[in-house]
Amino acid sequence: MSTSLRFKMVEQAFDRKAVPVEIPKERPEEYFGKLVFNRGTMFKYLPKTTYQALMDAIQNKQPISREIADSVADGMKRWAIDNGARHYTHWFHPLTDGTAEKHDAFVEHDGKGGVVEEFSGKLLVQQEPDASSFPNGGIRNTFEARGYSAWDISSPAFILGETLCIPTIFISYTGESLDYKTPLLRALNAVDKAATAVARFFDPEIKHVESFLGWEQEYFLVDESLYSSRPDLVMTGRTLMGHESPKNQQLEDHYFGAIPSRVEAFMLDLEIRCHHLGIPVKTRHNEVAPNQFELAPIFEETNLANDHNLLLMSVMAEVARKHNFRVLLHEKPFAGVNGSGKHNNWSLGTDKGDMLFSPGKTQKDNLRFITYVVNVMAAVHKHNALLKASIMSATNAHRLGANEAPPAIISIFTGSQLGAVLDVLENSSDADLSKLAGKSEYSLGLSQIPEILIDNTDRNRTSPFAFTGNRFEFRAVGSSANCASAMIALNSVVADQLSDFHAKVQKRLDDGMELRDALLSEIRTLVKESKNIIFNGNGYSDEWKEEAARRGLDCETSAPKIFDAYIYPQTVEMFGRTGVFSPVELAARNEVKWEMYTKKIQIEARVLGDLALNHIIPVATRYQSMLVDNVVKLRSIYGDLTGITSHDLETIENIARRMTVIKSMVAQMVAARKKANAIENEREKAIAYHDNVAPAMETIRYNIDKLELLVDNEMWPLPKYRELLFIR
Ligand code: ADP
Ligand code: MG
Repeated sequence: MSTSLRFKMVEQAFDRKAVPVEIPKERPEEYFGKLVFNRGTMFKYLPKTTYQALMDAIQNKQPISREIADSVADGMKRWAIDNGARHYTHWFHPLTDGTAEKHDAFVEHDGKGGVVEEFSGKLLVQQEPDASSFPNGGIRNTFEARGYSAWDISSPAFILGETLCIPTIFISYTGESLDYKTPLLRALNAVDKAATAVARFFDPEIKHVESFLGWEQEYFLVDESLYSSRPDLVMTGRTLMGHESPKNQQLEDHYFGAIPSRVEAFMLDLEIRCHHLGIPVKTRHNEVAPNQFELAPIFEETNLANDHNLLLMSVMAEVARKHNFRVLLHEKPFAGVNGSGKHNNWSLGTDKGDMLFSPGKTQKDNLRFITYVVNVMAAVHKHNALLKASIMSATNAHRLGANEAPPAIISIFTGSQLGAVLDVLENSSDADLSKLAGKSEYSLGLSQIPEILIDNTDRNRTSPFAFTGNRFEFRAVGSSANCASAMIALNSVVADQLSDFHAKVQKRLDDGMELRDALLSEIRTLVKESKNIIFNGNGYSDEWKEEAARRGLDCETSAPKIFDAYIYPQTVEMFGRTGVFSPVELAARNEVKWEMYTKKIQIEARVLGDLALNHIIPVATRYQSMLVDNVVKLRSIYGDLTGITSHDLETIENIARRMTVIKSMVAQMVAARKKANAIENEREKAIAYHDNVAPAMETIRYNIDKLELLVDNEMWPLPKYRELLFIR
């Protein structure tokens, strides 16, 4: 693009006004969930017996019969048509980023040459998308390419535009999961079973334990004109070059600052859309970096919350376009300013409404609280490498370990007060412990926990996994990620740990021990075994890296090697016991992870090579020859160096040096890519991309960014950071 075009785009972006928002006449409580086939709507559209059968099936996690499916399909279709839908789709979460859908119209032949609007239970319950081009890690070869999608009755259908979307799982004909939802549902089932068994030690009437997720979505907005002038943003979602703007986030004036009116209009529009779709968004604010924002809903059951996050990500992109913005969900779209994450606030609660990570009023409640917290601690300790693998990706790798983000080491922040309670538990004898639990006058007794935690507000922002009073906050999750990946790993490891704990306590009870003593002595063992996972200090410090290595925590920083944690024997066994993944599924998924990693770096490297050679070098050459021309002309007039400064000559030399490095590094990068592409094994190939291709990109970028400071601003072809990052 020519500079005059760049200036035109910048002007266009800076001149833009807020797009007016159509505000509904009704209040949010009236339009909330209007486009969702929720319980209220089902009650209206389904025969009573159907409604009851469906509710029972959802509650007891049972399949529904064909007759019920037919009846639900009929009601769902009538509701959808009443609300303007013409098509329906099974909406699923393949192993790519985002969601997939294949639309079918409701029309069927009526046998008389016309059509009727039909939708049967068969179509509702199961479809066979020809999905051989979705990533499957070799599970399906092409002659057996079919997978099928099946309705997830626990997540309500909704209408997007004029399409009825039915949340589904996606599996192969041989039963292996090909998506994120299937293993998520399995993991939630596993944690329900295991956590319920333990909950019954405290209250035999507990029937179910649910897992809750409240995500906080961070994102950047960029003006559409500027976005389309940056091929790197368009192709890779991040800027592959760009010198830091003189003003970034150093004045700390963006966080919680006034929201620009264009952005506020976008947010309002998005909230109205979300509320129609039943996504309970609540909070919005500016984030730390310029043009960075955050949005968070009220937490919900994990499977639903995750559907809502995926839906949000696609709705967001659409609403942003209406407001002449593009949303960047990449974890690190701009160097030098904060990246974006998606904190996963996670907790467990019983069907009676008790929140298991909330300290309670009675000693028994507190013993239960400690039981669950300590089991989470043990699970995270044992599987810290897996949890890290669950949030790792080519894009999130840019954020982890950098200064603003959680480090690439998983540890738990407990805060000082919970930490003190754990210390007491660890260091007390059996006799002390029974006193501790039994007598309220005991100074750091469990009965003290509520007061202690209420004012436990010392939040540690550097921790990747923090206890925040009534929940854990998994902060290492990337902004573009499907939360299911983290939630599958977390709920599975906790389920496995709780089953083990249950068995051990039960054994002590069978041997005649009192419940309280049995629990406390198992808890103490767990605290002793897993206290190395607790770290309340500065997670960004170099000392922590050394300390973590001494403690035996996983400190690997190379993404392709981090994925290995999925196929460690202890992981395969854990996923086997919990019934979440078979060894075949795990192996296939890792193939997909390595392949994705390679492809992302490959695309970036191609775009960077093209930009360097075809956009930057020609402009730098032109500018350099202008400078040379000037020197030559001055000399031809004066015959000496009059009017020529050492700065002029140095600039010419400097540009020459930068260009030489860029050209030779691009050649090196291309050679490294060729070599890597020849490797058959996906893991080895990804490692080659990580070790040999990515570092060349860094050097190229560094030198281009230096050129940006040398070359005439009028000639620079790409919008600069200072233009991209400040919405007027
Ligand atoms: P923060 O101080 O971390 O920004 P917020 O008030 O924005 O906190 O809440 C973050 C998210 O945590 C919200 O989605 C909220 O609904 C969720 N949350 C609150 N309590 C729980 C809980 N017990 N379990 C799961 N999520 C929760
Ligand atoms: Mg938070």
